[in-house]
This record gives sequence, structure tokens and C-alpha cells, in this order.
Amino acid sequence: MKPAAFAYVRPKDWPRALQLVAEGARAGAGTQSLGPLLNLRLAQPGTIVDLRHLPGFSGISQRGGGVRIGAGTTHAAIEDGAVPGRTGEIMAAVARRIAYRPVRNRGTIGGSLAHADPAGDWVAVLPALGATAIALGPGGERRIPAVRFVSGIFETALGADELLCAIEVPVLPAEARWGHWKFCRKPGEFSKATACVLSVPAHPPRAVLAALDAPPLVVEDASALLADPATEAPHIVAHIAELTELTDWRRALAETALRRAVAAAVGS
Ligand SMILES: Cc1cc2nc3c(=O)[nH]c(=O)nc-3n(C[C@H](O)[C@H](O)[C@H](O)COP(=O)(O)OP(=O)(O)OC[C@H]3O[C@@H](n4cnc5c(N)ncnc54)[C@H](O)[C@@H]3O)c2cc1C
Repeated sequence: MKPAAFAYVRPKDWPRALQLVAEGARAGAGTQSLGPLLNLRLAQPGTIVDLRHLPGFSGISQRGGGVRIGAGTTHAAIEDGAVPGRTGEIMAAVARRIAYRPVRNRGTIGGSLAHADPAGDWVAVLPALGATAIALGPGGERRIPAVRFVSGIFETALGADELLCAIEVPVLPAEARWGHWKFCRKPGEFSKATACVLSVPAHPPRAVLAALDAPPLVVEDASALLADPATEAPHIVAHIAELTELTDWRRALAETALRRAVAAAVGS
């Protein structure tokens, strides 16, 4: 199928882009998810606003304890080391395993988060890293912790008159330990269960379980999981399974993903 007809607008400044969105236009970034939605006619917007030429839409800047990543920064740029330091090493390893390079050349971190596919990689990883989503609306910027950004399946905390303009990630120390496991049948397929664990000295370790047909489940203090993954992983999975009626094989994958993410974090 081909998309229904739509108007295409390429604004050069944010106020114009925000005005169009407030009037009901659909934002477009890398179009790696929007394109299929249009082709299948699951989305039939009257107007698409191409965000890619807005000032500061992509690129990295460091501010104090955080790194600000423009929402339009591609997975490929992150894979190639655009984000500095230990945070950048972790993010590059995640980006490298998103789809294939042609998808990564166009797909953006902001588009991925705003799309809020439960199986999306950044949807799982950004809450684990302690990231903050930066929304821009008529009243200026609004900071939304990534743990609260995805509110449902394909649903976010963005207002109808807001755009995601950036994502801020903390500068992690070199000692930060990270574990990430996702179950995909083959590269480029969406995950059937994803788990991430971040352990930073002097802070409680954080764990995230995702890609289970629900928003990610964030465990802010995962000390018990790191101490005894065999006992704790089933408890965490049971919590999310209550919400989503997971089949037995998905529960098993989720438990294993958690245990492998812990093993990677402890061993890394
Ligand atoms: C073959 C294939 C395999 C893939 N495999 C994976 C995978 O393994 N893991 C993974 O995580 N992803 C995967 N993806 C998805 C890919 O990562 C996309 O890049 C991502 O989901 C969407 O980013 P985008 O920039 O293309 O956004 P778009 O497709 O342009 O937009 C997606 C949605 O977000 C909205 N949007 C975009 N930008 C903004 C913004 N700044 N503010 C507000 N709303 C916005 C749009 O209106 C739309 O609703 C795959 C895609 C393909 C085609």
C-alpha cells in the first residue's frame, strides 16, 4: 500500500514547527517508524512536519553533569561515538544493535523514544541510564525523567502541542558497570524481552525490564536483584506479567534476560 495524500512542511525554526504540531500536524524525523505507519495507512496525517532542518535538532553538547543529545541525533552517530565518555561507550554498544546500518543512518534517538514502541531499544535503555527527556512547547522547555516518559504502548507524556527536542544523559564515571540483554530472533528484529542493569559506585543499582508489551518496568533499587538474581528475577517478572498476561515462554525469556544483564553488569 501507499500513504494517503499529505502536505509536507519543512520549517526552519522551532516556533513554526510547534505551531504546526499544535494545529494537528504529525512530526517526522528519520521516518523509519512513521514511514511504515503511513504506508499501511495506520497513520493518515493531513500534514507532516519534517523536523530535520531545525536548529540544534541533532548534535551533542556537554553541560555540567549531563550530556545533551539533540532529539534528531541518529543511532548511527551514537554508534560512531558522538556521546563522550563511559555513557557514550554504553550508548554506542546499544546503538550498534539497533536494526541495520541503513536504518541507523536515518532513525533518531528522539523519534525512537517519542514512538514509544515497548520493544524499542532506547525505550528500555534511557530509563536505565537515568536520562531526562526535554520537551519543547509554547511555554518553553519541560524536563521529563525518562522513567516517566513512556506512559503506555505507543503513548508518551508529551503534550499535543509539544515536541521532543533533546535527551539529557548523565556523565557516568569510568567505574560504572552496565549489563544489557535483549532477545531477538535475528539482527534487525524487535526484542521479545530486554533487560538493563546500571551500577554506579555510591548509588543503588538500577534495573529495567522491557519489550514485554507494556511500558518498561523500572526497579530504582535493584540491590536485591544483584545479590540474588535467581530468586529476585522471577519476582520482578511476576510484577510485569500481572499487567500484560505474558505467556510462559515470554516470562522465561524475561527472567533469563534479567539474569544475563546482571551477570554482564557484575562481570563488566
Ligand atoms: C527494519 C527496521 C528495523 C528496526 N529495528 C529496530 C530495533 O531493533 N530496535 C529499535 O529500537 N528500533 C528499531 N527500528 C525503529 C528505528 O529505531 C526508528 O528509527 C525509530 O523507531 C523511530 O525513529 P525515527 O527518527 O525514524 O522517527 P519517525 O519514524 O520519524 O517518527 C516516529 C514517531 O515519533 C514521532 N516523532 C519523531 N520525532 C519526534 C520528536 N522529536 N518529537 C515528537 N515526536 C516525534 C513521529 O510523529 C512518529 O509518531 C527499526 C526500524 C526498521 C524500519
